[in-house]
Amino acid sequence: MIHRKTEQEIELMRESNQIVSDVHRLLMSHVKPGARVSELDAMAEDFIRASGALPAFKGYSSGSRSIPDFPATLCVSIDDEVVHGIPTERALEEGQIVSIDVGTEKNGFFGDGAITLPVGRVDPEKQRLMDVTRESLFRGIAKAVPGGKLQDISAAIQQHVEENGFAVVRDLVGHGIGRKLHEEPPVPNFGRAGNGPTLDVGMTLAIEPMVNYGSFKVRIAANGWTVLTRDGSASAHFEHTVYISKDGPVTLTNHFERKNG
Ligand code: MG
Repeated sequence: MIHRKTEQEIELMRESNQIVSDVHRLLMSHVKPGARVSELDAMAEDFIRASGALPAFKGYSSGSRSIPDFPATLCVSIDDEVVHGIPTERALEEGQIVSIDVGTEKNGFFGDGAITLPVGRVDPEKQRLMDVTRESLFRGIAKAVPGGKLQDISAAIQQHVEENGFAVVRDLVGHGIGRKLHEEPPVPNFGRAGNGPTLDVGMTLAIEPMVNYGSFKVRIAANGWTVLTRDGSASAHFEHTVYISKDGPVTLTNHFERKNG
């Protein structure tokens, strides 16, 4: 069942998602060669807790008893890591691209967003991968309108990615969000316009294209969490939480980024 939010609930979601944006803004200046991923994670956790919120990913269950709960505040996924990278003492290196995914919970409502950032100077093709992924997110968001179909979003993302020669990950998708981090409906980054549930006022969706430089195929690392490209090529990830208002899409995360997006 898809939960539609009231205007009061949207205000609470705005608060959780604002914290997500604030964490991204905070970390942007710290993503540079030599920075330790564990330090970024600690910074994010301190900020979220000081904002009266909880880190939503920490302690998240994989649903499998053989895999420990997610141990950190951030998912930090570097180069060929697609998503769900676990922060370690590892230091960032010049030329890497780093996806930072942030989840928050405040007043019973969740926020979720991700950006991919360059570490120092990066290869122009990696930059193009990041640019196309971010653009595809905005193409998808533009289709989040009342009366549209869910896969209008999916198709817009897929078309932009594939026109630019990259591949959309199939095994992971975006999601509804609200009182739970992951709600109905799933929001694939591939599909056919005109298909899927009808979009309606009050729906809140985490739209999150994961785009690989090479093949769309992925594998899971030995830690049970981290998703990697199977061919070792780089991958980028951008995510916004979006509210469908009567006037169209309202992005609840990363307002600052829209100026460049
Ligand atoms: Mg998400």
